[in-house]
Amino acid sequence: MTVLVRFAPSPTGLLHVGNARVALINWLFAKAHGGYFLLRYDDTDLERSKPEYVDGIAEDLSWLGLAWDKKAFQSKRITQYDAATEKLKADGRLYACYETPEELDYKRKRLLAKGRPPVYDRAGLRLTPAERKAFEDEGRKPHWRFKLDQGDERWEDIVRGSSHVDCASLSDPVLIRGDGSYLYTLPSVVDDIDYAVSHVIRGEDHVTNTAPQLQLFRALGAEPPAFGHLPLMTDISGAGLSKRLGSLSLRDLREQGLEPMAVNSLLAKLGTSDAIETRANLDLLVDEFDVGNFSRATPKFDPTELGHLNARLLHSLSFDEMRPRLAALGLADASPEFWEAVKANLTNLAEAKEWWGVVTGPVTPVIEDTGFTQTAAGLLPPEPWDQTTWGTLTAAVKTATGRKGRELFHPLRLALTGRENGPELKNLLPLIGRERALKRLGGETA
Ligand code: GLU
Repeated sequence: MTVLVRFAPSPTGLLHVGNARVALINWLFAKAHGGYFLLRYDDTDLERSKPEYVDGIAEDLSWLGLAWDKKAFQSKRITQYDAATEKLKADGRLYACYETPEELDYKRKRLLAKGRPPVYDRAGLRLTPAERKAFEDEGRKPHWRFKLDQGDERWEDIVRGSSHVDCASLSDPVLIRGDGSYLYTLPSVVDDIDYAVSHVIRGEDHVTNTAPQLQLFRALGAEPPAFGHLPLMTDISGAGLSKRLGSLSLRDLREQGLEPMAVNSLLAKLGTSDAIETRANLDLLVDEFDVGNFSRATPKFDPTELGHLNARLLHSLSFDEMRPRLAALGLADASPEFWEAVKANLTNLAEAKEWWGVVTGPVTPVIEDTGFTQTAAGLLPPEPWDQTTWGTLTAAVKTATGRKGRELFHPLRLALTGRENGPELKNLLPLIGRERALKRLGGETA
């Protein structure tokens, strides 16, 4: 069997970390099985779907490294949905209903008041041609419901295990609105059939949709794919994530300068019993991936955990791995020595810019004691400089001034970098170079 999965966002907002987790798990599943990943935009809601979200979602997925093998737009496939609709009508599985939203609400409330489940009474199914005509003459436009087979729908969920939904407890789902537009259910099934989707991996919020969808697959003459439902991720307080939640949007994480692989490393393991560790590339995550590892517990997204992971990842990456990311930050001239000097101090790659500025200048030195820094300036060894230069310099300054420990080192750091803290000077000093060091120790901006 060819594995083909799909990630099917509605382009009505930006992706948040919960959406990204579903996308990543689908992608890893595809790659772990030598399969394919379809990016499908569920954009039948023309009012709320926006081109900027189509682009934004593609950008976010690309940033994570989740390349898609195919792309589809539901809005371009209405002919296929119409054909499926005709078949369902011909087979008596789709029926017209004329209730207004208020009438439906009234029916629901009456059932609830009697302590009964608010399941639609199928009044539409019993309308005579004359009654239908009367509604049409009133100017009512029908919406269309799928007639469910009663009974239990069972499936072996690849995340939740053996699952079932009692269809007698469900209202026949509306597939087509009064204005003729499609709700998500039918297009999703038609697409899954036409693209030969083998596994539908999505959020637990869709579990109850699965029963009608299983019936729809069969009603359209297709074998259903396998289904897997992941518990929905929450924020650290346990509150649900919404598409509009700025700080947990992928765009925001990107703008914060976080590493995509830190995000992937976290999202691939949250909700499993595997330890969350940094992984430098997606191939490593593919090797470790097993969809059966996801538990039914709610995964919580903790930005602090992501921050720690991000720092650990930066500390572990080689210059070659970081070169493109440094170039993207405007540090195309950065050298392996620079990266090795600063990486242990970074919690976020954007901070590398600050250290690049310290190395290349201009830096306004902080001079605590002019006599002391001038003495140090006079003791700077001749170039070439290497990692031993700092030791040579400080030994000479110690002998000349009698200072040691913080008294010796701190004023030199302040003068040479203009900062209280930072990467080890033995690594920074050769990058700063003699000319700039001389000026900074002399109190000059350089
Ligand atoms: N557009 C649906 C959603 O974003 C897709 C659900 C599915 O994967 O079937 O929830």
